[in-house]
Amino acid sequence: MDIIVLKPDTSEYDVRHILKKLESKGLKATVSSGTERTIIGVIGDTSKVTEEEEDAIRAMTGVENVVRILKPYKLASREFKKEDTEIDVKGNVIGGKKIHVIAGPCAVENKTIMMHIAEEVKRAGATFLRGGAYKPRTSPYSFQGLGEEGLKYLSAAREKTGLPIVTEIMDPRDLDVITKYADVIQIGARNMQNFRLLLEVGKVDKPVLLKRGLSATIKEWLMSAEYIMSQGNQKVMLCERGIRTFETATRNTLDLSAVPVLKRLTHLPVVVDPSHGVGKWDLVAPMAKAAVAVGADALIIEVHTNPAEALSDGEQSLKPDLFMKLMKELAPVAEAVGREI
Ligand code: PEP
Ligand code: MN
Repeated sequence: MDIIVLKPDTSEYDVRHILKKLESKGLKATVSSGTERTIIGVIGDTSKVTEEEEDAIRAMTGVENVVRILKPYKLASREFKKEDTEIDVKGNVIGGKKIHVIAGPCAVENKTIMMHIAEEVKRAGATFLRGGAYKPRTSPYSFQGLGEEGLKYLSAAREKTGLPIVTEIMDPRDLDVITKYADVIQIGARNMQNFRLLLEVGKVDKPVLLKRGLSATIKEWLMSAEYIMSQGNQKVMLCERGIRTFETATRNTLDLSAVPVLKRLTHLPVVVDPSHGVGKWDLVAPMAKAAVAVGADALIIEVHTNPAEALSDGEQSLKPDLFMKLMKELAPVAEAVGREI
C-alpha cells in the first residue's frame, strides 16, 4: 500500500484519523491536495503492511481506494500523481504551458559583471537568473566561487531585474545562507547522490533543481528526487545536463530522450541544460531548440558578456547577442509543440 485515495469532501477529522492509523504502523505520510482529489502518499517500508491491514484501511471513513505503486520511487511517480506538477516561483510557473529560460554566468564573478549579464539576459527574455556562488570545480586550484558575497550580488541583480535566482548548494552547512537568498536551489550533477544533502533540501520550502548525475540512470535520478520529496518538499524539477559516454566530441552526451522518458515516468517538471550537455558555445543553440521540441519545461543556459575571460565554463557560454538570437529562434519551435516562450 503506497497511496490512499480519499473520497471528495473527506473531513479533516477523517484525514487525521487515517494519518494516526498509519503512524501507529510506523509509517509516515504526505497529504497532497490535487485539483480533483486528495491523496495520501505513504512513506516507509510499506511492504510490511499485510493484506488484512490494507483492507482495514480501505474500510476507513473517507477512503476511496488503496493503491500499491510498483516503482521504487513513489511520490515522484506518475502513478502517484497523474497531473503535471507546476512549480510557482514568484509568479513564474515552471511545468505549465510557458517554457522558462534560466540564464546567466556559470559563476558569479563580481558585481559589475553580474549586473551587466543579468540586464542582458532579462532584455533577451530570460525569466530566471542563474549563477554559482559555491562552485564544484574539478581542481582545488580553480576559482571556487565567492560564497555569500556572490549570493549578495545575485540578490542585487534580482532587485534590479526582477528575475528570480537559481544557485547551487554543495554542502548542507550552507543551507541557511543559500535559502536566505535563492529562489530555486540547484543540486549539481556531482551531488545528485549526496543523500544527506538531498534530505536537508527536502526539509526546506524552496523549489529544487536537481541535476542528473554524471553517470546516473533515470531510475537513480528519480530515486534522488524521491529522497527530497520524502522529507516533505514536493517542489522538485529534474535537469538533464548530459551524461558520460565514450564520445569525446562534446563535453557530455546530452540525453534528450530522457525528456519524453521522464514525462512518462514522473509528474515533475523537466529542465534541459544544453550548455553543460555539449560544452561548446556553438552547439548550445541547436540543442536548446531540440530540447524545446522534445518537451522540456525550461532551459538553463550559460551566458557571459566576455566568455574569453570567464572564470569558469567560458567555452560553453553564449555572448548576449547570440543568446538574444537564440531566444527569438526558440519561439516558433515552442509554438510548433503547443507551448510558448
Ligand atoms: C553548473 O550549473 O554550473 C554546474 C556546475 O552544473 P553541473 O552540476 O551540471 O555540472
Ligand atoms: Mn557551469
